[in-house]
Amino acid sequence: MSNRPIYLDCHATTPVDERVLAAMLPYFTEKFGNPASISHVYGWEAEAAVKQTREILAAAINASPEEIVITSGATEANNLAIKGIAEAYFQKGQHIITVATEHKAVLDPCNYLKTLGFDITVLPVQKDGLIDLNELEKAIRPETILVSVMAANNEIGVLQPLSAIGEICRDRNIIFHTDAAQAIGKIPLDVQAQKIDLMSLTAHKVYGPKGIGALYVRRRNPRVQIAPQQHGGGHERGMRSGTLYTPQIVGFGKAVEIALAEQATENQRITALRLKLWEQLSQIPGVHLNGHPTQRLAGNLSISVEGVDGAALSLGLQPIMAVSSGSACNSTSTAPSHVLTALGHPSQLAYASVRFGIGRFNTPEEIDIIAKHAIATIQSLRKQASLV
Ligand SMILES: *Cc1c(COP(=O)(O)O)cnc(C)c1O
Repeated sequence: MSNRPIYLDCHATTPVDERVLAAMLPYFTEKFGNPASISHVYGWEAEAAVKQTREILAAAINASPEEIVITSGATEANNLAIKGIAEAYFQKGQHIITVATEHKAVLDPCNYLKTLGFDITVLPVQKDGLIDLNELEKAIRPETILVSVMAANNEIGVLQPLSAIGEICRDRNIIFHTDAAQAIGKIPLDVQAQKIDLMSLTAHKVYGPKGIGALYVRRRNPRVQIAPQQHGGGHERGMRSGTLYTPQIVGFGKAVEIALAEQATENQRITALRLKLWEQLSQIPGVHLNGHPTQRLAGNLSISVEGVDGAALSLGLQPIMAVSSGSACNSTSTAPSHVLTALGHPSQLAYASVRFGIGRFNTPEEIDIIAKHAIATIQSLRKQASLV
């Protein structure tokens, strides 16, 4: 393990916490029952475990347990929310509003709906990555059925003003969906105070297992309807069929429980690490912070570096650190991501971008190693460039 690069890519995924793994293990072997089996103890104990996770998730966002629909992750939750609303409310209207910096798991379902005749408004963001609330208000039409704005961005860490957006939507009877994949366990979320109607969650960004997530679907004030996108045995009150994956669900609950218990202290510790890294990196000229300086996730540091080739920088950093240039989901190309482009970065300019995602298992010593190596790599690449 020790000669592997330092992991600093916590927006892509995180390791499963040992405490989470320990909670999951009995549910693979001994307590393997189907939560839908109602006539024996194997089913009952699995059902009890699923119920406990529903309660943890509901408490985490101030919802009730029956409003939690288990999915395979945030991609599925986003698809279920967006297509499910489109299908259930198309007679009311066929206009949806989203934002240029959303994850592809929001933008692509919206693009798909466009091919079916829906009208999609993609709001721009300001230089700091935040949406302009006036732009949102102006974009709303009588036929708008859904506004989808993420809680925390996966590339630049920016936190959108959920309460203000919720207020605008509720006043106009428009359903508000938020992709909170990066936010759950890291920032306070409250579907009542923030007037959120649908919220996508996932476990693997918060030290839980991959392949498990949830969609919060509001049941009252107002009652939100979604059309199922996967039909079958009628699980999850008909909204998402398929046998529940008990071990993953148990891990999801444990992961969120731990994250909430440690949220305040961890945010302080991780913010200090991020500031320590930025303090060192910002010493060299031509290094810019992407996204709002304070309205951001504790562990996110996204930078653009002038005068350096993206692919060369990526190669130079690789032996020492696991970081991402742009979004991990489309990092096969070194072209600037749709998120950085939306911030107004000139794509012709020679610059590289790096996303550092600091998390639970990173230490101050690691941050010093990272900073030292990143600075040395940038300076050496610039020197080479000036010699040609
Ligand atoms: C990771 C992520 C997703 C996708 O979640 P999965 O559970 O991996 O499907 C969606 N949205 C955002 C903002 C993410 O960070």
